[in-house]
Amino acid sequence: MSLKLKGIAAAPGIAIAPLVRFHSDMDYIPSRTVSDEEVATESERLAEAITAASRSILFLRHELAESIAAREMKIYDAQLALLHDETLKADMLAVIEQDKVNAERALQQVIARYETVFEDMEDILMRERAADLRDVGRQVMASLMARERSVYIADGQDYIFAAEEFLPSDAGVVDREHLCGIVTARGGKYTHAAILARSLGIPALAAVEAVLTKIESGTPVILDGESGVLIANPEDEERELYENRKSEQEETDRRVFEVRFLPSKTADGVEVSLYANVEGTRDLNQIEQNLVTGIGLFRTEFAFMERRQFPSEDEQFEMYRQAIEWAGDKVVTFRTLDIGGDKPLGYFRTPEERNPVLGWRGLRISLDWPDLFYTQIRAILRASAGGHARILLPMVTSVAEVRRCREVVDEIRADMVRSGEEHDENIELGAMIEVPAIVHVMDDIMPLVDFVSVGTNDLVQYLLAVDRDNPRVANLYTPYHPALLRVLDQISRTATAAGRSASICGEIAGDHYFTPLLLGLGFRELSMTPVFLPRVKLIARTITMQRCEELVTEAAKMTEAKEIRQLVKDEANQIWSEFLRGENG
Ligand code: PEP
Ligand code: MG
Repeated sequence: MSLKLKGIAAAPGIAIAPLVRFHSDMDYIPSRTVSDEEVATESERLAEAITAASRSILFLRHELAESIAAREMKIYDAQLALLHDETLKADMLAVIEQDKVNAERALQQVIARYETVFEDMEDILMRERAADLRDVGRQVMASLMARERSVYIADGQDYIFAAEEFLPSDAGVVDREHLCGIVTARGGKYTHAAILARSLGIPALAAVEAVLTKIESGTPVILDGESGVLIANPEDEERELYENRKSEQEETDRRVFEVRFLPSKTADGVEVSLYANVEGTRDLNQIEQNLVTGIGLFRTEFAFMERRQFPSEDEQFEMYRQAIEWAGDKVVTFRTLDIGGDKPLGYFRTPEERNPVLGWRGLRISLDWPDLFYTQIRAILRASAGGHARILLPMVTSVAEVRRCREVVDEIRADMVRSGEEHDENIELGAMIEVPAIVHVMDDIMPLVDFVSVGTNDLVQYLLAVDRDNPRVANLYTPYHPALLRVLDQISRTATAAGRSASICGEIAGDHYFTPLLLGLGFRELSMTPVFLPRVKLIARTITMQRCEELVTEAAKMTEAKEIRQLVKDEANQIWSEFLRGENG
């Protein structure tokens, strides 16, 4: 009998393939024997993991230096001393060499042995060291595993990825060629994992809580990214039904796709600029350059997340240069590093926070960690010499932050002028509007920036106080909340009054139901996951501005998110079915 599980539809499409379970926690520790030739590699892996773990402890120590007492600081010193203990290291290397096992198994064995010794000691202080040892061991294991996860090869078989969550760093390490669906136990529609799945064009489901307990690896499944259903061991009729549905959907997509090269104007001739959101240069290969006005959001943090250490200025420069070269005379909007929240960097272990999305993330990290920020700004400025680059600041919360960033850009530019390094002297600086407070002080920010871009994914999260990554409250996360419409109206008016362009780069820019509302509210620049561009264009081309404004007026009278959604859904569906009947487009 088939088993049906319900989740949140996170990326559209249907996938039919066996499911493969991935372990994203530390319970699963790969343990294997190795050949004589592999001994050196495993020893090297262990040494690198120890270095990475000490780097992150050093970082934590530095970070907490001002906020904790010297006594507590000693904990970190003790952990560092353990990590650099020559006997411990020699013991682990000896296990690799003599027992011919991988680094993870050696680490696990030796830590367990030492732990028992510490725990059996009379002295309470010594017994406490067992906890330190465990923590240190866990950190070294985390470094080793971050690398171990990078070796999944599907062996030529299509598969559906299943795990607790799909980490942005996974995109670079799973076998993408055969990945045809993603299902996670956690998450929601607006998480970065879902955004990533949509940009990869892979159907995805989130919040399927039982996926890891009820479905074994290798089980054939059907994943329906439209209705949010996962069917394990489908019956023949179910499989046939979904196979038919899949081909129908592909046919519709193919027809809508043909709209993509038609002019991007409303039915009454108002120009609408459609930009792409990308997660790295790799995405550029999938986009037809002449289809987009430019790159409205280049999420630079993804390239950081796929690596094992911070990219150097030259490496960043090369990545930005490639994007600018791809774009020709079109704009590329580089958003500065937006890590933290649901985008951790494996090698930059930040202190644990109770509310990470309200914590140390985005621009806050860049400003507290100037080396990072300077390096990135310099790399973007150097690349800007080759075309049209813009800098976009994430998570802006105060005017002072923008002022400081402007100073940094100016200081670096002045240095570059002195040293004769080429760059765009008039590079534009923009702020993301994604923290509600900033909407209220937008007037004060306008003189400091050249443009703004509205990040509705976070704006909705903060406006409604609903975590975008928490399945328990996913039903409360809705961009159709009347409050968002009012806030968007205010943003549009403020930007227009200040003569600055305001684009939308959150997921609603690619939600074709939302298109008439955004146009009616005055937004003319929409930046989205490229896969959604044809359908947004279809709506924009079919509708008049007058109708968009009417819809905004009607929506403004409504008090419920679901009424507003129904209003625009009906409108979009009518346009859609007329198109399929060949009556518009
Ligand atoms: C947003 O918050 O809307 C946004 C575009 O940024 P991200 O999704 O990367 O947080
Ligand atoms: Mg954001």
